[in-house]
Amino acid sequence: MKNIYLLGATGSIGIQTIEIIEEYPEEFNLIAISGYSNLEKLIEIGSKFSLEMISVKDNHDADVIKEVFPDIQIVFGEEGLCELAKLNENDEDGVLINALVGMVGLKPTIEAIKIDRDILLANKETLVVGGHLVNALLKEHDAKLYPIDSEHNAIWQAMQGEDTKKIKSLIITASGGSFRDKTRDELKSVTLKDALSHPNWNMGNKITIDSATMMNKGFEIIEAAYLFNISIENIKPLIHKESIIHSMVEYVDGSIIAQMANPDMRLPISYAMFYPKRIKSLIEPLNFDKISSLNFKPVDYDRYPLLKLAIDCFKIGGSHRTVLNAANEAAVKLFLNEKISFLQIEEIVLNAVQNHQTIVDPSLEEIYDIDKTIKKEIFDRYNK
Ligand code: NAD
Ligand code: MG
Repeated sequence: MKNIYLLGATGSIGIQTIEIIEEYPEEFNLIAISGYSNLEKLIEIGSKFSLEMISVKDNHDADVIKEVFPDIQIVFGEEGLCELAKLNENDEDGVLINALVGMVGLKPTIEAIKIDRDILLANKETLVVGGHLVNALLKEHDAKLYPIDSEHNAIWQAMQGEDTKKIKSLIITASGGSFRDKTRDELKSVTLKDALSHPNWNMGNKITIDSATMMNKGFEIIEAAYLFNISIENIKPLIHKESIIHSMVEYVDGSIIAQMANPDMRLPISYAMFYPKRIKSLIEPLNFDKISSLNFKPVDYDRYPLLKLAIDCFKIGGSHRTVLNAANEAAVKLFLNEKISFLQIEEIVLNAVQNHQTIVDPSLEEIYDIDKTIKKEIFDRYNK
């Protein structure tokens, strides 16, 4: 039995995680959850499980939730997320599932590693901004980090039983997002609604926009570099519009191992939750009678400048990744609030990165300071 500490329970990944917990009640015990803006959903989840802790946005929400659940410990803010991540420090069956969106997931990840708690990570921004800190801590502690992100989960599956020193490259597939068939000229007039309709996946709003700009693929390349300790030169994106092959590992002998399945996050989530076991998952199996072809196309970096920028930021290193992420979080928020156009996301992120003087190996405090400054500058300028 695993005890689950779930950050971001009310989001797309969080809800699918809870679905799996409900399907396998003899395998998992949900101990604690966090939410941010959807109190109703938190109350619904809280009523179904006997939780020990709920983490909410602020003091005010904490009072509301306390009324409903007087016997559950209620915490709030970024500190609350950290308390949740390290709740019951000596629980040897405890696993943290980090399904938060944004770099707010970094500190709780660090807290869990410090108490030697394994982490199932959906929250890729954690590795984008703090991959160097996370990897350094993982070396000192017993905690393990397992990926939920479908591409990384596929790579992890394709590495089972293999000698990872014999890997030549990782091929990360990309659907191309909601605007994959549009030219850059056509992008000038796209709307928020267009951007939010992803052809293959049903996900949270931020990652859906990140997929449309392909910043998501850039983040995933950085994520893969930290997770698998592979040189970024050997991590290659590839457009594969069907999202059937979730990624591939190329070995020195020329063999390429791919993981395939219908695009449904419940598979990578359950693979991570049950690892090293495999179980019957909730997804519909692939039916090759219905798949007439699988398509592949090289990535055009001029079409997707943020993908190129993410790779460049990783190569520059240091605090450039923090700026990349902070500017992107701010710009995507502005776009979701219909304050800027789709192409302005790129403009804002490119501009922030170009104006930054990098700090080598930024500390956690430096990362948080830079993140705050960059976001403030962007919001002050555009949030009118
Ligand atoms: P989502 O927006 O649906 O959910 C995010 C969760 O985080 C919610 O519970 C929300 O309440 C909480 N949250 C948001 N801002 C917060 C804040 N400032 N403080 C505390 N909590 C906050 O997002 P999602 O689509 O579930 O994605 C979660 C993470 O998983 C992201 O990093 C995303 O890139 C990654 N991911 C998602 C998918 C997917 O299919 N949704 C696939 C692969 C990777
Ligand atoms: Mg992914």
